[in-house]
Amino acid sequence: VKQHNTSPAPEFFEKLAARLGPSGFITDPDRLEPHLLEWRGLWRGQACALVRPLNVEEACFVVEACRDDHVPITPQAGRTGLVGGGVPQGGIALSVERMKSVRSVDALNASLVVEAGITVRTVQDTAEAAGLLFPLSLASEESACIGGVIATNAGGVQVLRYGNMRDLVLGLEVVLPDGQLWSGLKSLRKDNAGYDLKQLFIGAEGTLGLITAASLKLYPRPKTTQTMLVSCANAHLALNVFNAARAWFGETLSAFEYWPQFATELVIRHSKASNPFDHFYPAYILIEVISARNDPALQEECELFLQGMIEKTLLIDALIAQSEVQRQAFWHLREAISEAQSKEGASIKHDVSVPLSNIAEFLEKTQAACSDFHPGLRFCAFGHLGDGNIHFNISQPPEMERARFLDLWPSFSVIVHDCVSAYNGSIAAEHGVGLLKKDELERHTDPVSLNLMRTLKKAFDPQGIFNPGKILF
Ligand SMILES: Cc1cc2nc3c(=O)[nH]c(=O)nc-3n(C[C@H](O)[C@H](O)[C@H](O)COP(=O)(O)OP(=O)(O)OC[C@H]3O[C@@H](n4cnc5c(N)ncnc54)[C@H](O)[C@@H]3O)c2cc1C
Repeated sequence: VKQHNTSPAPEFFEKLAARLGPSGFITDPDRLEPHLLEWRGLWRGQACALVRPLNVEEACFVVEACRDDHVPITPQAGRTGLVGGGVPQGGIALSVERMKSVRSVDALNASLVVEAGITVRTVQDTAEAAGLLFPLSLASEESACIGGVIATNAGGVQVLRYGNMRDLVLGLEVVLPDGQLWSGLKSLRKDNAGYDLKQLFIGAEGTLGLITAASLKLYPRPKTTQTMLVSCANAHLALNVFNAARAWFGETLSAFEYWPQFATELVIRHSKASNPFDHFYPAYILIEVISARNDPALQEECELFLQGMIEKTLLIDALIAQSEVQRQAFWHLREAISEAQSKEGASIKHDVSVPLSNIAEFLEKTQAACSDFHPGLRFCAFGHLGDGNIHFNISQPPEMERARFLDLWPSFSVIVHDCVSAYNGSIAAEHGVGLLKKDELERHTDPVSLNLMRTLKKAFDPQGIFNPGKILF
């Protein structure tokens, strides 16, 4: 591996400036700044230029130039990532933000081909205009772009029904680290002609190449949606409710989100939300079911289900949204948790997953282990319970200084991730590894897997120029 070149010669800059022009090649420090800084200010990186190709030909030109001069490349899309994966560690920041075209929509094939810089929201709108659904939905969807959600294998609130981003990708177009264009933009649901290469780039966090376009799966739009907000005594009972809901609703179950009383209190305190119940309860679940048909009977099915759950004392109280406004109010309680937590003070976050059957015990044991290490913690463990994905967040004790609390982040990570491993989970469920979990990945991954990952990286990027400093490299 040759030494990275983080101070390229003037000829390198001149070559890129001549080809990309002033909108595509930027060295002005003020315009570079947002591309160096993680959006919450958790990391600050370094780059000698921001490069914004307009099309795939320009993207190949840039990667070839970097390959020739050994200049590191950090791919960037919407810059909403939560693990520092897009924070450059020298070289250039290569943003796909100008590559925004919808290349084609095929309603019969239920697919579309879009470029990497298009936002998730625009893809949803484009699908809707064709009478179809692009189901990826996450709170950052107005900024997060297709290149980024593929590179991080994003999840969101409908994974239960439609899967992660990996399940929504039919084909990819990628500029490889040697400058070649891999045109894998097929729109097939069955293709067993050799290795499924696209899978390698999904979730690779920009370490194996630059995604420039993708063919994505679309679905029929749901015509009926029922949204239930329910309360229960603890995570153990919530899992029983999940099991019952899956059996009762089958394929129509599309979301099962869980959060504790503390999260509801925070959202009510820090946003304009009001308490939908007369009381606070130990735990809340948002259950959503959808049907591709106009299905008036679905509400009755929900009522029967909830009645049964209350009779079995699995649930304490339950509401069914009677309007879109009420449905949005229910979702707000879930989606405003992160923001409300940040208004409450500092928080230490872990995005982890464990098998469903282990979640309740994992939560109890991990909270106990953290409390043994430091008293007075306020736990805000919430998330996509139906996917086994928990955002195990800890809020700063009110009397503790912010900086002193945040200094404990590495210690809490060790405690939480050790519990995750003990319960056969993953230390990186949705957001990836980036800079945040590099050391922890190495600690929690078996040597054979680490070796395979390193072998793959060497095969794709022998110079190591793509997103250095991330995942393991
Ligand atoms: C409020 C909020 C809510 C969120 N909710 C969720 C959630 O529910 N589920 C979830 O999974 N995530 C969530 N996220 C995290 C974030 O939105 C996702 O990780 C998203 O996929 C990042 O997309 P982006 O376009 O912003 O990518 P960026 O942040 O720009 O980049 C993310 C990573 O992908 C790489 N990358 C970017 N573009 C490319 C490309 N074209 N080719 C190759 N590599 C590339 C970068 O190098 C980096 O490693 C949330 C974030 C916020 C702020």
